[in-house]
Amino acid sequence: MEDIFSKVFDPVDFQRKGHALIDLLSEHITSVVNGKVKAIPWESPEKQLEFWKRDLNEGQVTDPTCLFKNVMDRSVKLHSPKYFGHQTSVPAFDAVLAGLVSELLNNGMGVYEMGMAGNAIEKVVIDLVAHKMGFSNQAAGFITSGGSLGNLTALLAARAASSKVWTNGSRPEQDLAIMVSEQAHYSVYRAAKIIGLGEQGIIKVPVDDNHKIRCDLLEQIYSKQADAGVKVFCMIACAASTAIGAYDDIETIAKFCDRHDIWLHTDGAHGAAVVFSQKYKELVKGIEQSDSVLLDFHKMMMTPSLSTSLIFRSKESAMHTFSQQAHYLWNDQQADEWYNSGKRTFECTKAMSSLKIYTLLKMHGLELFSSYVEKTYALAREFAIFLNFENDFEIAHTPESNVLCFRYKKGNDLNQINNYIRQALLEDGEFYIVQTTLNENVYLRISLMNPLTEMSHLRGLVQKIRELANLR
Ligand SMILES: *Cc1c(COP(=O)(O)O)cnc(C)c1O
Repeated sequence: MEDIFSKVFDPVDFQRKGHALIDLLSEHITSVVNGKVKAIPWESPEKQLEFWKRDLNEGQVTDPTCLFKNVMDRSVKLHSPKYFGHQTSVPAFDAVLAGLVSELLNNGMGVYEMGMAGNAIEKVVIDLVAHKMGFSNQAAGFITSGGSLGNLTALLAARAASSKVWTNGSRPEQDLAIMVSEQAHYSVYRAAKIIGLGEQGIIKVPVDDNHKIRCDLLEQIYSKQADAGVKVFCMIACAASTAIGAYDDIETIAKFCDRHDIWLHTDGAHGAAVVFSQKYKELVKGIEQSDSVLLDFHKMMMTPSLSTSLIFRSKESAMHTFSQQAHYLWNDQQADEWYNSGKRTFECTKAMSSLKIYTLLKMHGLELFSSYVEKTYALAREFAIFLNFENDFEIAHTPESNVLCFRYKKGNDLNQINNYIRQALLEDGEFYIVQTTLNENVYLRISLMNPLTEMSHLRGLVQKIRELANLR
């Protein structure tokens, strides 16, 4: 019998299958990028599960091409210019190739010697992003596995800066709370719950008609907490909010935080990428006054998931989040080292995702990121203006980012009609969009993530919605 390991680790076999896979992927994207293939081949969870159960029962194969083809056929096509769904990046092909390299090398990044190139590349990327955000060279940061984990890490750092809970356990010297927009991403609330703040420790600040934090209420809300003996240790600004992509007024929030010695965390998972654009960076004015800023490369920077940067205004706060000893890994926990990234991150084994973003930088420069933001943001504005002239549609807000909520407005029960339209679109599959509820009204929601999307595709969507509405 042939040894199973010499088969699994046969370089010649890898080369053959690898070439076949690249051919298959290239065929796939060729048909997808011109919009001829459905953006979503919708199937119910039960049917999908049925397929894969049957597939495994059909026995082993020696060539994975057919398996990969099945996965492609049954997946959402983000590279379709008719993909306007969730805020997941449409990966640039060069970043995908970089991903293959990092997966094969599998150099864990927790300690320098296991991820030598990766740790240095990560520092180069982080320093560049920090510089673009306007931070001084006192800033530091790292890449972590997603915005949700990044928000949790930032909250831990904020708490470590103002309390000894990390060392003493769940006995804070004082009741602790955070202040956060009522429109913040759910991962922020979840992180607050994980660190034990409970409902009473999450102070939701109302938003105005433009869905931005009401800065006029900050002092009043803070005083009420302070009078009750509660210590607000962190405030979170959205850049941008998830539902409609609205940017909070970071500059004003930063002044408030500074007055009361509150850690300011800016959740820029989606929208902090505007720092690369001369035209749109005004939206995050004051971002460099944040104590920490989160930015997902896998949202607005064409990098495959997960890849998130978390930047701290001060090196020390980046280092002290998880102060603990792991002698078998490091000699001196407190040393100011950039290269043992595991000291600062949740992950022990960590993927070398820095290579993906570095590859894009090295090959295309910063212009790629500014062009991306400018194209997708401008298109959302253009589409909003277009819809304003159509008497059977209305927009929910003037877009600040590449997210736009709108609805079809012909008929009596608009919530029911728009629910119907979204479901019909999903089952039709040519376009992929999502929906959201604002003030109890159902809206259709698009994120223009694909830089190959043009107005013609959006006009096609409008036409499709009309057809589906008429079929009701
Ligand atoms: C997507 C998003 C998150 C969560 O990030 P993940 O990388 O999906 O975990 C947090 N905050 C905002 C504003 C987001 O858009």
